[in-house]
Amino acid sequence: MKVMEEIKETQIQNVGKYVNEIFEVVKERNPNEPEFQQAVKEVLDSLVPVLVKNPTYMKQAVLERLVEPERLITFRVPWVDDSGNVKVNRGFRVQFNSAIGPYKGGLRFHPSVNASIVKFLGFEQIFKNALTGQPIGAGKGGSDFDPKGKSDLEIMRFCQSFMTELAKHIGPDIDVPAGDIGVGAREIGYMFGQYKKLRGAYEAGVLTGKGIGYGGSLGRKEATGYGVVYFVEEMLKEKGLSFNESTVVISGSGNVSIYAIEKAMQLGAKVVACSDSSGYIYDPNGINLETVKRLKEVENKRIYEYVKEHPEASFQVGYSGIWTIPCDIALPCATQNELDKESAEHLVSNGVKAVGEGANMPSTQEAIDMFMEHHVLFAPAKAANAGGVAVSALEMAQNSARIAWTQEEVDGKLQEIMNTIYRESMKASEKYNVPGNLVVGANIVGFIKVADAMLSQGVI
Ligand code: NDP
Repeated sequence: MKVMEEIKETQIQNVGKYVNEIFEVVKERNPNEPEFQQAVKEVLDSLVPVLVKNPTYMKQAVLERLVEPERLITFRVPWVDDSGNVKVNRGFRVQFNSAIGPYKGGLRFHPSVNASIVKFLGFEQIFKNALTGQPIGAGKGGSDFDPKGKSDLEIMRFCQSFMTELAKHIGPDIDVPAGDIGVGAREIGYMFGQYKKLRGAYEAGVLTGKGIGYGGSLGRKEATGYGVVYFVEEMLKEKGLSFNESTVVISGSGNVSIYAIEKAMQLGAKVVACSDSSGYIYDPNGINLETVKRLKEVENKRIYEYVKEHPEASFQVGYSGIWTIPCDIALPCATQNELDKESAEHLVSNGVKAVGEGANMPSTQEAIDMFMEHHVLFAPAKAANAGGVAVSALEMAQNSARIAWTQEEVDGKLQEIMNTIYRESMKASEKYNVPGNLVVGANIVGFIKVADAMLSQGVI
């Protein structure tokens, strides 16, 4: 028995060494890309148990292939502002992995977008998309264009120029982009129009997140936020907890946040805070969602405008202070690395019971370690926010079949998908001896699906 244990320990050490060597190569090949390196490190470390059990993945260099995108496209995006000045931005599309379907993943328009950001997002998309059980590969893209303060016509001209180049690389069976930070239904509409004009064909399945009137799916707008709450509710249920009568803090006030707030409220929670990049609002009576929706979805205003209409609420500058507010459940839904070790310490000392990631990689590794150490229930982004891309895949299916499902049908499928992701990730965490660790469980489930498809398709 002791000998067996020693052999196993040596195997784990050897695989750990192998994984570290791969990570060193990733660092060398992708210098100055901290977000990409961070995303790769988390996944590689979590795959050690699966590699010990199945060395074929190592022999066939599956990891070495996974960390290298199939293709990274960068391009110039020239456009003309309202004063007649010519502006130039940089566009990106990473086509990371197509083992289980056409590349699929959103487009982000934000000044912080660079190769590191799109590669980290594209890499995470591999595992997330596989987890949904839908036939979709992984991609991501965007631009360092800042939509804030731009007129509608400027947004349109930018989107048209962006699509003029991107159109050469996408298609309903090749690569299907969607929205992300700074890209909503308006931007998707402008890009779809330009794609259609360039192609001379109505290929509805080339983009998802479209308007309902021209091929969009009911329930897509709500899918990521609702999905996060469905996933976290499953996680809570197992411990005899629920959203009902819980106090909840949700960062951001964009697409994911708004619909996470809505679903949490529908399940009986009191959501007391949300934010944008200017700061956060705290409303002890519970946020008025109608006001947030109007300010953000209709009027494009900053979140501090909320306190003008709700004097009982307060506004604080700086977005990380939101995590000092006591709550039972915290849902970071704004952006990467918005929840660091210090924020995690505040949450833990205030007695947080569960954290669910709506944004991509919103918690730093130190924050995740802190949650694990203190037995806080933790729902990682790849699993918890997969509802958005899952419903995007349902939008593609409806476009192919030229049919439209009802909101209830789509929402029913979304709930089923989120429950399945939860159950599969839990089961994998148990099988690989880290019971309840959904970070490891989710990574392993996603990895095995993609890795097995890669093995079947040979070295390509
Ligand atoms: P939106 O652009 O609709 O909203 C983003 C929100 O986060 C805004 O409130 C924004 O504030 C805030 N935010 C963005 N960047 C920063 C920053 N650097 N610092 C502080 N606050 C910031 O984007 P989404 O809601 O679509 O996306 C939010 C997150 O969810 C992202 O991580 C995205 O990748 C992820 N995600 C989105 C999916 C989707 O379906 N949309 C699917 C899966 C994941 P401000 O307006 O002031 O910039």
